[in-house]
Amino acid sequence: MELLTDSTALQRWIDARRAAGGGIGFVPTMGALHAGHMALIHAARAQTAHVVASIFVNPTQFGPNEDFGRYPRTLDADRVLLTEAGCAALYLPTVEQIYPEGFQTSVRVGALAEELCGRSRPGHFDGVAVVVTILLNRVRPDVAFFGLKDYQQYLVIRRLVTDLVLPVRVVGVPTVREPDGLAMSSRNRYLDAESRRRAAALYRGLSLAREAWIAGERDGTVLENRVRQVLQQAGIDTVEYVSLREARSLRSYTPQADREEDPVMLLAVRVGGARLIDNMVLSSEEGAGLSI
Ligand code: AMP
Repeated sequence: MELLTDSTALQRWIDARRAAGGGIGFVPTMGALHAGHMALIHAARAQTAHVVASIFVNPTQFGPNEDFGRYPRTLDADRVLLTEAGCAALYLPTVEQIYPEGFQTSVRVGALAEELCGRSRPGHFDGVAVVVTILLNRVRPDVAFFGLKDYQQYLVIRRLVTDLVLPVRVVGVPTVREPDGLAMSSRNRYLDAESRRRAAALYRGLSLAREAWIAGERDGTVLENRVRQVLQQAGIDTVEYVSLREARSLRSYTPQADREEDPVMLLAVRVGGARLIDNMVLSSEEGAGLSI
């Protein structure tokens, strides 16, 4: 796997691959890689000829009291995983390369980015939007791959790409889970054994909501309360939000007589010093993803 540590090396690599033919697939990450990230690499390999990943812990998407400083950095192990997965190149920019002296531009997505995680992490999606815009402009991929685990982020990025007419196709990849259902996340490394056990309640709660949905329950508050109850019983420290939304717009879910929107249950909690998020589209099979 080629290591590209600056934008000149990246441009050279991209130009050569483009000349060789076949599409370029891009998987942006913050490192501390796991099987969830690898699913993105596999999807990229299946759909494009040349796969480039990036690792960049983006300071602008962390709040002042968040975990930027202690975010896990495991470059050696990451390189092994990416190589084994068949990733062709890894772009590793420094903070100065992404935000050079004098940088002062912001990218802000509207309503979609303002609720849920946008509310509990003010400025977070501005940081995501600006870094994704820069990375897409540097890499110029044909297809970019994002995890549905970060469901709101996926919709925000799709909106951004559509609104700014960025010449890239965005693909969402279904969430990869541990055997007990916990969504894989770099932040799971923060969990001690007891918190890790509690964290399985996120998936249990979401699954229960989906069962209720399939059984015919359509009241958003009832469905949200089912999830909250499971989280409380498991001793989850803090519930930031549990919210049933329309899967494409993230507007509050209200059942309509004439059309049935897909409902997505989203949640964010704090457990054992980690902030964890998860979601489930209640109307589709787990892992089926969503074509939007
Ligand atoms: P991160 O390194 O956490 O910024 O994640 C990089 C990309 O991997 C994002 O598009 C995430 O949504 C995706 N991702 C993270 N965890 C998972 C998972 N468990 N399943 C699928 N995709 C994931």
